[in-house]
Amino acid sequence: MDTTSKLTLILNDPDLSEALKAIAQKVQNQERITFDEGVYLYEHAELGYLGTLANHIRERKHGDNTYFNRNFHLEPTNLCVYDCKFCSYSRLIKQKEEGWALTMEEMLDVVKKYDNEPVTEVHIVGGVLPQYDVAFYSALFSAIKKHRPELHVKALTPVEYHYIFKKAKIDYATGMKLMKEAGLESIPGGGAEIFHPEVRDLISKDKCTGEQWLAIHEEWHKLGMRSNATMLYGHIEKYEHRVDHMEQLRQLQDKTGGFQTFIPLKFRNQHNQMSHVPEVSVIEDLRNYAIARIYMDNFDHIKAYWAMISRQTAQLSLNFGVDDIDGTLDDTTKIYSMAGAEEQNPAMSTQDLVNLIKQVKRKPIERDTLYNVVTDYTDFVFEDEVKPQYYKLPVIN
Ligand code: SF4
Repeated sequence: MDTTSKLTLILNDPDLSEALKAIAQKVQNQERITFDEGVYLYEHAELGYLGTLANHIRERKHGDNTYFNRNFHLEPTNLCVYDCKFCSYSRLIKQKEEGWALTMEEMLDVVKKYDNEPVTEVHIVGGVLPQYDVAFYSALFSAIKKHRPELHVKALTPVEYHYIFKKAKIDYATGMKLMKEAGLESIPGGGAEIFHPEVRDLISKDKCTGEQWLAIHEEWHKLGMRSNATMLYGHIEKYEHRVDHMEQLRQLQDKTGGFQTFIPLKFRNQHNQMSHVPEVSVIEDLRNYAIARIYMDNFDHIKAYWAMISRQTAQLSLNFGVDDIDGTLDDTTKIYSMAGAEEQNPAMSTQDLVNLIKQVKRKPIERDTLYNVVTDYTDFVFEDEVKPQYYKLPVIN
């Protein structure tokens, strides 16, 4: 049964509440749902209902296309001047012996390691340290672009930008322009956590505020550039805080159109100061992806990090609004594993990733950072999948 027929079944279900029917009607009419309706979904909607609505939107936007990219992570340091309570990754400067802080040369060595790999993007993200300032990052971006011009530099978050611009006494507009001139091409979605101060002040008090996070992305979009947005969910926030977070992103997107992808990030409770907070279930993960897909009507893509939520949940998420499952070639990132993610060594070959998507009857599309299609793997056959050819035996009558 196609998604339109499933939606019609919901609309004609005599047992469904009028409120849920009204939301389903809006989805069918391609109308935006309100803040209150978003909260209502979190509080009352069942998984099957949410999946039907979210999958309808996903297939209307993308059909079966499921995107991934080939990138590697460069993590300059896991030391940080901040002390976010949920962070399993950062080691405070006082615990320096447990940390690393790469020099410029070491960072460029990481980039050079991939010289013969078909990667399209370097994703740079890590802790915040005083020695990594505007001059340092400008020099790093320029050096990467000089070494490998076609490699897309996706780097840092407003957490770092706010810190380095403040230190350099320059405003956001000037700072982002400098970064662009140095070679920065897009901003990942990190550092957003939950914008609402009732939550943000408790879990990551000192770093940039929600308003500052949004203001930096806005300046970046004004330069004609693209970025992503995340939301850290499943800890001490209430449903209202999640919807408020999505609402603020939706409003900025109305204004600039610069966001590409919304990425809900599951809170993991290992090795951090919030280990006493239980993690939410896989069902809640799927409900959250689906509500994000329904609410964020002006975002093209919803992404799930397979390394964070496990390969199986990533497969399931493709029926709950997700159309992108990221994709790293190797285990260059430590952010997920240190937080207690399912994948302790997140390595997956292109073939594994393609098969993961094909197994659930979706079309695997390798994209670049800006969602240009690099390779459509729908009918692609990998070398070791070629069936052996046999000679025809003569038939003796
Ligand atoms: S989440 Fe980011 S800013 Fe916060 S402590 Fe960790 S590395 Fe630092």
